[in-house]
Amino acid sequence: MHDVVIVGAGAAGIAAARTLREQGVDALLLEARVRIGGRAWTDSSLLGVPIDMGCAWLHSADRNPWTAYARNAGFELIEREPQWQRRIGSQEASADYQQRWHAAFERNNELIAAAAAAGRDVPVSELVPNDEFRSMFDAVMGWLMSVDATYVSSVDYARYQDSDRNWSVPAGLGAVVAHAGQALNVRLSTPVRVIDHRRRQVRIATDGGVIEARTVIVTIPASLLARGELRFVPDLPVRLSEAFAAVPLGAPNKVFFQVAAGAMPFDGTTHFIGTDRDIRTGSYATRPANQEVLLAFFGGSLSVELENRGELERFAREELSRIFGSRFNADLLSAVSTGWHNDPWSRGSYSAALPGKALLCDRLSEALDETVFFAGEACSLDYFGTVMGAYQTGVAAAQRALSRLFS
Ligand SMILES: Cc1cc2nc3c(=O)[nH]c(=O)nc-3n(C[C@H](O)[C@H](O)[C@H](O)COP(=O)(O)OP(=O)(O)OC[C@H]3O[C@@H](n4cnc5c(N)ncnc54)[C@H](O)[C@@H]3O)c2cc1C
Repeated sequence: MHDVVIVGAGAAGIAAARTLREQGVDALLLEARVRIGGRAWTDSSLLGVPIDMGCAWLHSADRNPWTAYARNAGFELIEREPQWQRRIGSQEASADYQQRWHAAFERNNELIAAAAAAGRDVPVSELVPNDEFRSMFDAVMGWLMSVDATYVSSVDYARYQDSDRNWSVPAGLGAVVAHAGQALNVRLSTPVRVIDHRRRQVRIATDGGVIEARTVIVTIPASLLARGELRFVPDLPVRLSEAFAAVPLGAPNKVFFQVAAGAMPFDGTTHFIGTDRDIRTGSYATRPANQEVLLAFFGGSLSVELENRGELERFAREELSRIFGSRFNADLLSAVSTGWHNDPWSRGSYSAALPGKALLCDRLSEALDETVFFAGEACSLDYFGTVMGAYQTGVAAAQRALSRLFS
């Protein structure tokens, strides 16, 4: 019998297991995939350089626990602020344009914060004006919040904490998370199907047999819990299943291109967006985190639509060819696209509370019989959608499991 079993070896599960180990408790992690890390995943084989298929940015880097972890583990960090909307297409936006965009974005944030403070949990799309920057604001919601502005809750958005420090890792943020998990007790390729907590010992039915534990920490994505893909006996209380259904995962996706020698559009790392006139556009980076690739990033419903049609790469090629000329398409060599919406072990990229439902998130820290605890990015009220939120909720769940074990 195990003291603690952790379901899912992503950032939350790894943080939980490390916290337990510091207190002398060796938790068993059960992971459905053939690798650890979950949505933190650096691949180095496909294009010959490390590419982050999932998370890449240390958001709120100056207070992000993964920053300290990465430094201590010897990872190089790029402590340079990205300017995501610095260029529109190939053109650098003028200082005046930048100033007006930032003022409009700030004003929108204030309108949303005021509505949230007044208890109005409505789509942010209803709160911001249709000014010259509306398309760009809506596109940014898809990248930042993962879903279209019509699905972004004012209360959820206002609760999100951001220190505006966004750093990156040349070796990959996924590699940092995997490094943190390397010495843990993990069983890979072991999907958990049922958690039966009717007795003192929790019975965990997996594809590799039944395992018993005194406490369990469940870190699988909220999307899977909302779909009932992990069954509980007795059933999850309605208040919890409602809460998991209130934080669906949008599915931003990435396409990485190898670019022909000498054909990369800019020197060094540069960010640009396809257009500020249409929400159906990508956010691009040359040499993200210094890797020699061109990255296209899509969010909101556009990303889901393109993934479902198998057209992420085509859309990126067409938009890039519009920006840099039709001959550029031939300079875009091998490409790798992600597919997070249809990934069976995440069904999405990162969570955002539905408008009108943000306050249900408070329930995500509730446990079952003070024996089964939940963690994962969606359970974080202020850093949801990030590896930082995953880390913090993993640590919090581990501390509660420890209290239970030693009570
Ligand atoms: C394209 C993309 C870009 C992103 N960009 C950023 C970014 O720049 N910065 C940032 O901070 N965050 C970013 N994120 C979000 C970040 O990756 C996640 O918030 C974080 O990794 C979630 O960690 P987690 O432990 O909560 O969940 P997960 O990483 O999903 O871990 C849960 C684990 O549970 C496993 N699992 C699922 N079902 C079962 C089962 N039945 N049995 C056993 N195991 C199961 C899964 O395989 C997975 O390994 C991005 C995500 C994506 C996809």
